Amino acid sequence: MITDLFGRALDYLRVSVTDKCNLRCAYCMPAEGVSLVPHRAVLTFEEIERLVGVFASLGVRKVRVTGGEPLVRRGIVDLVGRIVRTRGIESVPMTTNGLLLAQYARSLKDAGLSRLNVSLDTLKEDRFLEITGNPGLQAVLAGLRAGRAAGFDRIKINAVLIRGFNDDELFDFADLADECDFDVRFIEYMPFGGTTWERGKFMPASEAVARLKEKFPLEPIEKRSSSDPAYAFRIPGRKGSIGFIASVSESFCQSCTRLRLTAEGRLIPCLHADVSLDLREPMRKGATDEELAALIQEGARLKPKAHEDFLKDFSSEAARRRKMISIGG
Ligand code: SAM
Ligand code: SF4
Repeated sequence: MITDLFGRALDYLRVSVTDKCNLRCAYCMPAEGVSLVPHRAVLTFEEIERLVGVFASLGVRKVRVTGGEPLVRRGIVDLVGRIVRTRGIESVPMTTNGLLLAQYARSLKDAGLSRLNVSLDTLKEDRFLEITGNPGLQAVLAGLRAGRAAGFDRIKINAVLIRGFNDDELFDFADLADECDFDVRFIEYMPFGGTTWERGKFMPASEAVARLKEKFPLEPIEKRSSSDPAYAFRIPGRKGSIGFIASVSESFCQSCTRLRLTAEGRLIPCLHADVSLDLREPMRKGATDEELAALIQEGARLKPKAHEDFLKDFSSEAARRRKMISIGG
């Protein structure tokens, strides 16, 4: 069991399999881009598989495959299969922008992927182009259809809630949830370095909930697990659900059981703290599984009790250095 200094048992690993992406979302990717890590710095499949095995031996049960955009990593289906087959791993979901999903949905399902989270912030073509820099809305919608046809149920849609950009689409997303039986999750806009975040674009989840309540009765859904950061609602008589991840206004650090592994093999115990620990070099220099396990435990002890107040500290140098695309979502 990986237990941190505050008694949280860390059983959930998010693995960024690449820092490359085929979109340029304004809330994630700095306008000038990021310097990609050189090929040899990126973990190989064998290295990811080995590290996942060590994490699993320490009690990790769920591994989310993310990025960058995971579907741009060549051989991704093979990698998913390797993670799925790792002893001890019970659930392997993926977070993707969906652009290439139509091509991969079936083989991902066959490889044993547990669940799909597809990021989609708007249902309007012009806005999709504006926020991602790519005219790919139809491709993402085709990806969603392919995901469903391949047998993925309970598909989640992640939308970053941005005041003045998509806050007028709350009801459209509620309709999408009903029509397609999707679980829509609005994520509060988190401040990351180099992005277009500004205070005026931030909308607290509570405000969006209040707006939805003006039109619909919202029935709270009981959480499946205490570490699920979203609170969700069902609309009586409608399919799917609508939920909110209020990472900025209501931090859920107390129940956070996550660790992250970057594409270049750094263990990041908290998305918003400036601490990490390299696993790649010790592994390449011949560390045994036991030594890697000890390093992972050491990294877990760096997990802070709670992260800083986003809104207060965004101007700090440390906050501006943090880039979602490099850390891995
Ligand atoms: N490329 C994949 C995708 O977009 O789903 C996976 C990686 S992406 C970094 C993972 C998630 O982080 C996405 O759902 C994205 O919307 C979210 N994200 C990125 N920047 C964010 C921000 N500034 N605030 C809130 N969520 C953010
Ligand atoms: Fe790429 Fe995902 Fe970041 Fe958008 S949110 S730029 S799709 S990694």
